[in-house]
Amino acid sequence: MSASKCPKCDHTQFEVIKVAVSGADRPVNFVQCAKCGSVVGVWYDYEMILMMNRILGTLNNKSRYS
Ligand SMILES: [Zn+2]
Repeated sequence: MSASKCPKCDHTQFEVIKVAVSGADRPVNFVQCAKCGSVVGVWYDYEMILMMNRILGTLNNKSRYS
C-alpha cells in the first residue's frame, strides 16, 4: 500500500486540529498536512456521532410507543 501524500507538497504526515468555522456551532476537526497545513479532510467528532445516535434512538422509541 502506498503512503498518503499531501497534494500540495508531497509530505506524508498529517495532523488533526480543531478550527472555529464561521456558521458552525462548534469547532470542526480538520485533517491537514503537518508540513504546509493544506486541509485534506474533515474528521468527524466521534462523541458527536454517539450523541446523535442516542438522540435518534430516543426519537425512535418515542414514536414506537406513542
Ligand atoms: Zn503539504
